[in-house]
Amino acid sequence: MDSQKKYPRAFSFEFFPPKTAQGMANLRAAWQQLAQLKPRFFSCTYGAGGSTRDHTLDTVLEIQAAGHKAAPHLSCIGAARDEIAATLELYRSKGIDHLVALRGDLPSGAASAGELRYANELVTFIRQRTGDHFHIEVACYPEFHPQARSARDDLEHFKAKIDAGADAAITQYFYNIDSYCRFIDDCAALGIQVPIVPGIMPIANFSQLARFSDACGAEIPRWLRLKMQSFGDDAASVRSLGLDVVTDLCGRLLSAGAPGLHFYTMNQAGLTSTIWQRLGI
Ligand code: FAD
Repeated sequence: MDSQKKYPRAFSFEFFPPKTAQGMANLRAAWQQLAQLKPRFFSCTYGAGGSTRDHTLDTVLEIQAAGHKAAPHLSCIGAARDEIAATLELYRSKGIDHLVALRGDLPSGAASAGELRYANELVTFIRQRTGDHFHIEVACYPEFHPQARSARDDLEHFKAKIDAGADAAITQYFYNIDSYCRFIDDCAALGIQVPIVPGIMPIANFSQLARFSDACGAEIPRWLRLKMQSFGDDAASVRSLGLDVVTDLCGRLLSAGAPGLHFYTMNQAGLTSTIWQRLGI
């Protein structure tokens, strides 16, 4: 873990673009509350094939207009080079200089995978088109991406994104700290030298989290899964154990030398703020 200790700590909060006016009002209340914690930046996800482009941009611009740093995500799957270039120009024209660059996942039934197949090709494309304008974050997977042929392959594909010009990385969420610490050491051994910030998923709705984790390859430890399942509809117990487990994970990550935390807030300030207060950051 020593390789990460040289980077200053950065905290960030991720949102998804709401589809309704009520969703937007809820998100506004959430980011305004979380802004008091003075994160390094906020980020907003991007639907595959550009399906949320306008909502992603609106969300980022609203946060930016209030004087905070905000980074849109940008995915390349299903998109043509010209479309991606137009989005980059739009972002640049709005004063955005920070991006999270991803491949994304092809929606079922989508006709074409697009012109850039993997995120490293997107990072190369962004650097070719816009030079050093954007600070680029990419994704990485301490428990490995579900489509990776092997752990080694996945690490090398992560390195290809850094070699293409990414400045930093955010991990998929995980609940087993060993996976992150070993991943960091493997990255250092491969010569990857960027901050790798752990992605943190607070636990709100357990059955939803379990479904999502199965799909994205994040492992929920057996003891935690069984305990959570035993709570059934008792939301207060789910929340209480989730807060204990995630706060403990965050505290141990920071003590071990993680260069910050990136919270998947699910557009709610409550759990993230409580974890933050308990950590005494
Ligand atoms: P890549 O780095 O391209 O990797 C995808 C898979 O392909 C991996 O298995 C990798 O090992 C493999 N691979 C890479 N290069 C090659 C190669 N040259 N040859 C063969 N195999 C290769 N999704 C969204 O749609 N919108 C978002 O806003 C969004 N935000 C996210 C933010 C974070 C922090 C994270 C962790 C994920 C996010 N995702 C988002 C999900 C992400 O799009 C998916 O996990 C997707 O399946 C992989 O994206 P990637 O950028 O990691 O892909």
